[in-house]
Amino acid sequence: MKFTPETYSIPDRPGEPFIDANEIWNYIETADSTAENVHRVIEKALNKNRLTLAETAILIGAKSPELVKAIKDGARQLKEKVYGNRIVLFAPLYIGNKCSNNCLYCGFRSTNTEAVRMTLEDEQIIKEVEALEDNGQKRLILVYGEHRDYDADYIAHTVKLAYSVKRGHGEIRRVNINAAPLTNEGFAKVKEAGIGTYQIFQETYHPETYKKYHLSGKKADFNYRLSSLDRAQDMGLDDVGIGALFGLYDWRYEVMALVRHTNHLEACYNVGPHTISFPRIQDASLLNVDSQHFVNDDDFAKLIAILRLAVPYTGMILTARESARIRSEVIHFGVSQIDGGTKLELGSYSANLNEKQDLNKEQFKVNDNRSLNEIIDELLDDNMLPSFCTACYRLGRTGEHFMEFSVPGFIKNKCTPNAILTLTEYIVDYAPNDTSHKGWKVIEKNLNDLQNDDMKQSVLQRIEQIKQGKRDLYY
Ligand code: SAM
Ligand code: SF4
Repeated sequence: MKFTPETYSIPDRPGEPFIDANEIWNYIETADSTAENVHRVIEKALNKNRLTLAETAILIGAKSPELVKAIKDGARQLKEKVYGNRIVLFAPLYIGNKCSNNCLYCGFRSTNTEAVRMTLEDEQIIKEVEALEDNGQKRLILVYGEHRDYDADYIAHTVKLAYSVKRGHGEIRRVNINAAPLTNEGFAKVKEAGIGTYQIFQETYHPETYKKYHLSGKKADFNYRLSSLDRAQDMGLDDVGIGALFGLYDWRYEVMALVRHTNHLEACYNVGPHTISFPRIQDASLLNVDSQHFVNDDDFAKLIAILRLAVPYTGMILTARESARIRSEVIHFGVSQIDGGTKLELGSYSANLNEKQDLNKEQFKVNDNRSLNEIIDELLDDNMLPSFCTACYRLGRTGEHFMEFSVPGFIKNKCTPNAILTLTEYIVDYAPNDTSHKGWKVIEKNLNDLQNDDMKQSVLQRIEQIKQGKRDLYY
């Protein structure tokens, strides 16, 4: 695998700003998106090479339906050939929605007096985690507003608490975080608490637009936020997630900037982001966003496919903000993780609330309200392999996507067997009959595809052990 570095107007230095808006626009405006160039760039990505910004811009400029189809087909092929059919599942857990920032797209913003504020007590966190475990979840992302109550000590405390909750065979094996940037010491503290990924979305990489939508509070400082994951890396927290909130500014610019951010992390720390998120703006309490840059479904599918091709060894997260219909379509363009059974209202997993969302109690509208099991059913019907695997993180194998992508046999020897074993646990512990019937069929098919007989025998043995009560077996 090769990545040809480009020279940028602002050289990459740890902790320093790296976004030049004019430079990004210049790439977009000068891209020569002829059919020949677009096919050449797709071919390059399919040969497992990272794309430069100039090449990403060529894909962005492709307009004709044939070329857009070629980009989507390329992304689908890359995903199928390189990663196979696994999809990792997780759930978000909102811990507290107090917030001192004033982000105009968010229902939790400080000036929203309609918002019902709440921070879960420890007892409530335990109940929420138990309810999530009872549904079969193994991976959580804890979410917080930015508030003095949610400092690094508090976040670390809640992470440890979530890991400590065990019910029946249920346990949480990976806790990720989506929260405000911390100080250097803060990042070290949460790393020590055993988190997986620390996600911080830049929201928009366009400085003027950023200013327009972040009126006050710490988050109003564009560069402080931009450099935050550098500080995480400086403290040894090398598993970070980036993202942009699509709809604040031109999607083409944000895609380029996400690739630029990836290049910055690689240049400074030799490791790119673990995941990229691409949420689209949804309705929220007192939402105050100009609709000029809202992204339509066609452009959304195209941008996901372009990201897949541009950063082939980064995980891509698609959330329940999107409807079931959109999720089923775009999942094929390279998505590696989705949430299931998502509820945003604080305390709602254990209260088993299923009524209509009250936006004054939640950050934004969720459009896919299906249960985890319904999502698993659909994945199985589609011949995909739902996975709750947490093996790499627990064995200290960081850069797992990179390994999946570049180490020969890694997927067949680690990822697929681990997906099969975690799906087996789900079937044995939580699945209704119909789901287990479909699940065993998918497991059988994936076992047959393993080819290596020793590995197949070993997985079969472990499946038997799970049936007899053993848990948490992985390669
Ligand atoms: N308070 C932390 C922060 O701002 O970094 C946590 C972020 S928030 C709980 C998670 C993400 O939700 C935000 O970074 C933003 O991208 C996204 N978000 C906020 N309002 C949204 C909306 N109306 N629609 C869709 N996503 C939204
Ligand atoms: Fe607060 Fe985050 Fe919402 Fe901004 S996006 S108002 S920081 S919770």
